[in-house]
Amino acid sequence: MDIILFGPPGAGKGTQAAAIAERARVPHISTGDIFRKNLREGTELGKLAKGYMDRGELVPDSVVCDLVTDRLTHADAVAGSLLDGFPRTVMQAELLLDWLEAQGRTVGAVINLQVDDDVLVRRLSGRRTCSACGASYHVDHNPPSVAGVCDECGSAVVQRADDSEETVAARLATYHDQTAAVLPVLRRRATVSDIDGNQAIDRVKAAVLAVIDAADG
Ligand code: ADP
Ligand code: AMP
Repeated sequence: MDIILFGPPGAGKGTQAAAIAERARVPHISTGDIFRKNLREGTELGKLAKGYMDRGELVPDSVVCDLVTDRLTHADAVAGSLLDGFPRTVMQAELLLDWLEAQGRTVGAVINLQVDDDVLVRRLSGRRTCSACGASYHVDHNPPSVAGVCDECGSAVVQRADDSEETVAARLATYHDQTAAVLPVLRRRATVSDIDGNQAIDRVKAAVLAVIDAADG
């Protein structure tokens, strides 16, 4: 089953992703994580993505779509996936849904995490991220057990460059200008479950896992 985890930056997609992927037995595919990995490794893709990411803009559709459809053909993802941070434009959404349909694959669930803008700004400015595995923390709401050290892999926990105040504002504007329009497309072509992402992490987790269980059953 393919699952789309949708919501604005800071909604809690990365925070919930591991539990969903484990419950649905599918790999977690985050386009943002893929770009950051390429950036760290200094690849051509990383160099291309950097300027867009630094400005809080979207990487061009042609680049992202090829990347995702290629990833979805890897052995671990042929039976399903958890897509996080994709699709982010109407074109990405139409292309993904057409591509999945052509492969005989169906979107089993779309989880739409709804969070107010003022909450998103506080979350993104307090977010800390593992520099190696991408695990997401928050200085107040979800700190690592040992300050600055990732609970999952022991690597350094840092602030993402694009979580600066200026870039956060640009990313939220990009969401409202280009990504919010994806939702009507998803509602038309799949079943969307709206979840109140303003709630505490554990309550959001219970709600999203209930959606997965219902879709799986
Ligand atoms: P996204 O992947 O959607 O951009 P993250 O999962 O990285 O968002 O979450 C953004 C920030 O908000 C992180 O610092 C995370 O720890 C925190 N966070 C996530 N979900 C919640 C929640 N339900 N309540 C409070 N803080 C949260
Ligand atoms: P994220 O980790 O999901 O917040 O993504 C970080 C950045 O990567 C975004 O601000 C974009 O610049 C880029 N990015 C991630 N996913 C996409 C996508 N589906 N389409 C275009 N750009 C993306």
